[in-house]
Amino acid sequence: MADYDAIVVGAGHNGLAAATTLAKNGLSVLCVEKTYGPGGQAATRELFEGFKHNVGAWALLVFRDEMIKLLGIEDYGLELIRPHSSYTVFGAPEDPCFLGYTDKEKLVEHLMQDHGPEAVEGLAGLADYMQTYRELIDKEIFKSPSSLEGLIANAPDAKTREILMKIVYGSAMDVIRQFFPDPNKHRCIQGSLCASAVDGTHTGPFTAGNALSMAYHYTMGDEYDFRTPKGGIGALSEVLAKSVEDRGGNIQYKARVKRFLIENGKILGVELKNGEKITAKVVLSGIDAHATFLGLVGEDHLPSDFVHRVKDIEYKTGYIQIHMTLSELPEFTGHLAFANDANLRWDMAYIPSPEHLTRCWQQYQRGQIPDDPVSYCGMPSVIDPSLAPEGKYTCTIFSPYFPYDIPKGKHKEYSHIMADRVIGQIAKYAPNFRDAIMDRVIVTQKYFENTFGLTEGDFASGLMHPGQMWDKRPVPGWGGYKTPIENLYMCGAACHPGPGVTCIPGYNGAREVLNTW
Ligand SMILES: Cc1cc2nc3c(=O)[nH]c(=O)nc-3n(C[C@H](O)[C@H](O)[C@H](O)COP(=O)(O)OP(=O)(O)OC[C@H]3O[C@@H](n4cnc5c(N)ncnc54)[C@H](O)[C@@H]3O)c2cc1C
Repeated sequence: MADYDAIVVGAGHNGLAAATTLAKNGLSVLCVEKTYGPGGQAATRELFEGFKHNVGAWALLVFRDEMIKLLGIEDYGLELIRPHSSYTVFGAPEDPCFLGYTDKEKLVEHLMQDHGPEAVEGLAGLADYMQTYRELIDKEIFKSPSSLEGLIANAPDAKTREILMKIVYGSAMDVIRQFFPDPNKHRCIQGSLCASAVDGTHTGPFTAGNALSMAYHYTMGDEYDFRTPKGGIGALSEVLAKSVEDRGGNIQYKARVKRFLIENGKILGVELKNGEKITAKVVLSGIDAHATFLGLVGEDHLPSDFVHRVKDIEYKTGYIQIHMTLSELPEFTGHLAFANDANLRWDMAYIPSPEHLTRCWQQYQRGQIPDDPVSYCGMPSVIDPSLAPEGKYTCTIFSPYFPYDIPKGKHKEYSHIMADRVIGQIAKYAPNFRDAIMDRVIVTQKYFENTFGLTEGDFASGLMHPGQMWDKRPVPGWGGYKTPIENLYMCGAACHPGPGVTCIPGYNGAREVLNTW
């Protein structure tokens, strides 16, 4: 007799979403996690005494509130903070900033006042355009996905088909320039839009195929408004972990799975790094496909064409994060002085224009550190004081395009150069910023690879390229949650619908198990 009904590998938020769904339905569940706490890339940890930092993900960008009910965690006191503006995107002093007011009237007022009526029309037109894709994903979000090509071919009319083709195969700028045709106007708005497209892809703004990532960012959540759980992003996983335990499930931390126990094409359980063997009727993997199949299953147990497909998955990505503690908030000057209003300062983004982002992409492709990197500077304790001691602040800067192929022995030197550049961008407009930094730690894709086992450090668990989404996620022919190994399922961001803090792959993976239980 097996030790458990189900073992879930990884206590990332998706693994926990799967575990709690199974436990809620009466299965005996064990979740095994290699690190010392829950959340994976969406964890909040005390990196500096008395301060809490979001280790990776920092905001709910693509989250649907209905998940709280579907997972049955309504009574766990999860509090979502909704700031009155999601972001302040800035560039050159002559370019008006783009503010992501969550109140739609206030947003329109800002656009009219600072960017003119064309910007209101442009964003409204783009939202309408994206709605076509939202209707498609809404029908397919809670299931093993249909073929994307089939759905496009069966679009109700030629116009819808044309829109979907452009969203799936076009570049972000193909789409954006339909609504913002002038490269010299609305530069921060255009920069902000295309930055979402390069997130989770190995592309620049004009690379074909990344409009899909932009559409994903704008349609996966209820709205593209940023929210953060009180206590940090990790609070969501902590609630999920508590609900697993309340429903009789177990979570074992510092328990790294070394390999899966497989006989005659059927999974029987897992073997931990310490040699312990634990059996279960089903196993769900909340880690990426490369790590699951080539790391834990082993090529010998898999059909060779499947192995090739796993080896073909693109994971390449480079980025840097600087986690800091601040003795005081940056006091912005010049064209950013207005941001000193606390709720505007909490999330600053330096994205001057698509052309600027393209320059960064080109330098990154050549293995160079972008000379003027785009960056996101979050100060979450401004909207959630529970993250820092009174009068002090947390700050994290994220910047994409940290070179990927770095000459041996140069990783630390490169990361310090890039960190100084992105800190310099904030300091340029907030002269007190450098002196306000009390502590800092710099991490790159290497940290996420080593700590959470992400293949190539890829936070998308497989880039969001059209050939790696929908029915082709995690690999073509095995879209969804089942695998070629009997009773082994996938339940992490590696599968449909994809990355981000959504809980959906975890919930869907568990539902797939329950459908045949
Ligand atoms: C820097 C950064 C910024 C991001 N920003 C955002 C954001 O603001 N908003 C957003 O929505 N998304 C963001 N993301 C993406 C988001 O965090 C991820 O897509 C999401 O958290 C993935 O969740 P998961 O549960 O599928 O996987 P993971 O979080 O990767 O969880 C997998 C877990 O499995 C564990 N594990 C791995 N191997 C083993 C093993 N052999 N045995 C046992 N355990 C194992 C890992 O330690 C980990 O805890 C960001 C990611 C990063 C890295």
